[in-house]
Amino acid sequence: MNKDCIFCRIIAGDIPAAIVDQNEDVIVIEDIHPKAPIHYLIIPKVHVESVQTLEQKDSHYVAGMMMMAKKLSEKLSGDRSFRLIMNNGSGVGQSVFHLHCHFLSGKKMTDF
Ligand code: AMP
Ligand code: ZN
Repeated sequence: MNKDCIFCRIIAGDIPAAIVDQNEDVIVIEDIHPKAPIHYLIIPKVHVESVQTLEQKDSHYVAGMMMMAKKLSEKLSGDRSFRLIMNNGSGVGQSVFHLHCHFLSGKKMTDF
């Protein structure tokens, strides 16, 4: 828990968010500025800034993020296509320095 981190504060319940799902390892919220009809954030319940600072002892959280993505995908309609994005570093657009994965779906995404 980092009291200066917005995602830690959402996990702690100090700041409201639209919670989609959660378990002991991860919480899923709706992104406040959605870039697709479905835009969730899958957030581990541990304060790790990015993949660069991830430690082996926390690697099960990453597995938990992927298993949650699978669970979320099972609720999608159509061909259940979705995209996962993890920004690592301000140079590629990371703005919240608590590891998270964007789960995007519901529109055609052809550009990489
Ligand atoms: P990134 O730019 O990869 O670090 O992604 C951070 C994401 O968090 C952005 O897409 C923001 O729109 C989103 N975000 C920031 N604050 C909140 C919040 N309080 N509730 C939901 N999403 C948020
Ligand atoms: Zn945090």
